[in-house]
Amino acid sequence: MEKYILTLDEGTTSARSLITNKKGEIVAVDQTEFAQHYPKEGWVEQDAIEIWNTQRSTLVQVLNKSEINSKQISAIGITNQRETVVVWNKETGLPIYNAIVWQDQRTAKYCEEMTQEQYDLVRKKTGLIINPYFSATKIKWILDNVHNARGLANENKLMFGTINTWLIYRLTGGEVFVTDHTNAQRTLLYNIHNNDWDEELLQLFNIPKSILPEIKSCSEEYGKTFPGLISKNDTTRIPICSSIGDQQSALFGQLCLNPGEVKITYGTGCFILMNTGEEKVESSHGLLTTIAASYNGKITYALEGSVMIAGAAIQWLRDNLRIVYNAIETEWYAGQVNDDRRVYVVPSFTGLGSPYWDSYSRGAIFGLDRGTKREHIVRATLESIAYQANDVISAMQKDLKKDISLLKVDGGASNNKFMMQFQSDISRTNVLKPTNIETTAMGAAYLAGLAVKYWKDIEEIKQNYDVDFKLEQSISEKDANKLIKGWNVAVSRTFSWTKDIE
Ligand code: ADP
Repeated sequence: MEKYILTLDEGTTSARSLITNKKGEIVAVDQTEFAQHYPKEGWVEQDAIEIWNTQRSTLVQVLNKSEINSKQISAIGITNQRETVVVWNKETGLPIYNAIVWQDQRTAKYCEEMTQEQYDLVRKKTGLIINPYFSATKIKWILDNVHNARGLANENKLMFGTINTWLIYRLTGGEVFVTDHTNAQRTLLYNIHNNDWDEELLQLFNIPKSILPEIKSCSEEYGKTFPGLISKNDTTRIPICSSIGDQQSALFGQLCLNPGEVKITYGTGCFILMNTGEEKVESSHGLLTTIAASYNGKITYALEGSVMIAGAAIQWLRDNLRIVYNAIETEWYAGQVNDDRRVYVVPSFTGLGSPYWDSYSRGAIFGLDRGTKREHIVRATLESIAYQANDVISAMQKDLKKDISLLKVDGGASNNKFMMQFQSDISRTNVLKPTNIETTAMGAAYLAGLAVKYWKDIEEIKQNYDVDFKLEQSISEKDANKLIKGWNVAVSRTFSWTKDIE
């Protein structure tokens, strides 16, 4: 009877379940989107019960579709959208409020009003910055604004979790209340120097420790699924053996396991992570210190840069400007430009993330003249994604005082060869895309498989990595610098926009 690993990949817009075999091939996938709620400008919520139901139904579906039975699953792995907050009642198991999603900006004002001293303290202890993006201020908001939440917390009747914790709690029938180091660290309540929840940070955000889950590694058995999870008559209890944030999972899935190795995921946003091994590198260039993984008794770290709008800019061309019909044809349009018009698009629709962190910037197009055509705009939009990723790459090189020579890429937009070549050209690196770009799911699958010895060790996993393409830089350094100079001017002219026009 062939055995498999089942991964739950709970993303921002959909829940997916994937089954992987020993060769690291994905043999079945099921995916369902769930609803996004925007009750007020800047607010983003999801229904945690809907997330659970959607995730569970994809799990059942993927087994049905593939005709693989639950006894053939050696372990379940979990990877998830990070920072999103669920608070639920210990007695009923029901959330007391919708999940507040990582994109939600409702606590922006609260964050802005914190003192420089508090910013410094948080930066030192967490490796992150005070920002609505992370979980802490969202938890505080629920405790302060949901009827009787503080009362319930004082009676020790509340539980908080990011989505991994919520799923494990549900999958085990409410038996297990845990998180992992990668997810814990993104809450803003976790001290990266002693690897535990931090009393001073809990006090700062006025969050009682009693609501927090226990922190475990990314690769160990947390518990087993409750009997009847899959169907009434199926009493199999599958061990749940990995939990890791989605970006860290992609870093692992790309096998960026040594210091200096970098992955870029080009999805809706773009996330760039560099493994820094056991060293916690403190950035002086707008990057975040993140836990890369914890397994085999060891915690490793990464430097991270987040670009808010990447593939989303392509969706904007398609859905708002309606100048392309689908994302794939952007590559064709870009290839039609054969003049040297220097058009720049800065897609800072929701402000700028790393390394600028300017939430007042808004999008702009520069360098228009009477000859500018759709082709130029499409091409400049693709280029803008690469420029933003390059800003993060440059910041990493400055922080580490070392050159980066290879970028391992994945995510939907990494299929665009024009963009990948442009990335190689401006970043002065090779760009490598693996055949299997489901690296986010693969990271969690590998960590779960390692925990139950489905794979013996990392060496065995390395056999599974195949290359789709590898690109080398094709323009001179002088030309690359000229292009980047234009981008630097363009991006700086968008800074502070909404503030300046007040
Ligand atoms: P997510 O996981 O964030 O939903 P995906 O990894 O599925 O994202 O990638 C989808 C994104 O990639 C979309 O924003 C889409 O516009 C973009 N995209 C997909 N294919 C291409 C392509 N060939 N060229 C450029 N962008 C693309």
